[in-house]
Amino acid sequence: MGQLDGKVAFITGAARGQGRAHAATLAGHGADIVAVDTTGSHDSMNYDLATSEDLEGTVKEVESTGRRCLAITADVRDTDAIGAAVRQALDEFGRIDILVANAGIHSMAPLHEMGDDQWNDVIDTNLTGVFKTLRAVAPTMIEQKSGAVVLTSSINGLEGGANYIHYCAAKHGVLGVMRSAALELGPHRIRVNAVCPGVIDTPMTNYQDVYDMMNGGPGGDRSSLEEGATGYGILDGQGALPAQVISDAVLWLVSDQAYAVTGQAIPVDSGHLVQPG
Ligand code: NAD
Repeated sequence: MGQLDGKVAFITGAARGQGRAHAATLAGHGADIVAVDTTGSHDSMNYDLATSEDLEGTVKEVESTGRRCLAITADVRDTDAIGAAVRQALDEFGRIDILVANAGIHSMAPLHEMGDDQWNDVIDTNLTGVFKTLRAVAPTMIEQKSGAVVLTSSINGLEGGANYIHYCAAKHGVLGVMRSAALELGPHRIRVNAVCPGVIDTPMTNYQDVYDMMNGGPGGDRSSLEEGATGYGILDGQGALPAQVISDAVLWLVSDQAYAVTGQAIPVDSGHLVQPG
């Protein structure tokens, strides 16, 4: 018996990285999965979004646990596409008990050089996309009079960061969405929380701009990420963390064990935030 037996989890950004780990983890505890992602790239980004092969890989991981996985290609910025994804999920499974709004992108530029496209792509995906996903799923949870929602914010939802002002603005905004949604949806027995990951070892942290940031200038590489992440927190020996550590926090937040927890932002950051400034 899994603690999520009979439940259905709708997860965005599920093709790879943290989203795939969330899908496999929740399935491993009994949930059927709706895995939503998109493909392609933005001109304002210096790495690619997931591929259809990535999404297929998530389906295989979920199915290896014995649970079902409905893969849907949809862009969280697209109101119609996310609405259609929710309808498809309900046609397939008849309910949605868990939402993990995890899809996100990253890019870097000094604020005075940041173009409108770069600002808009990140805000549209990381903030408005989270709102649109929550808005699309909420009526089902309200009707069911139950639900558990986890929004993916970041440590950058709780502190600033140089050269990615758009990302920090969006992730702070996600916490505003989370707290307001917790207030509105609490009376419907729907809990809404957020995870705030530190440095996680995924494609989002494994591209040249992040390597250079960790290096303190051009010429960074994978070892720059490892060294930079190792000095990020206060727990000795913890570098870039595996996505699984965030999935374990998500699992607890959506489980009945967290039945009295709502409106909370949970940092998983090796103690980064507690350091004196
Ligand atoms: P990732 O790039 O591997 O995963 C992000 C996924 O979101 C990709 O599969 C991508 O295709 C998908 N996606 C992007 N735009 C989308 C859109 N418009 N519609 C649907 N799907 C879309 O990176 P990750 O680290 O797994 O990121 C997951 C979440 O965690 C993001 O919200 C990110 O901002 C957040 N986060 C990451 C870190 C980190 O260090 N990696 C730290 C804090 C927060």
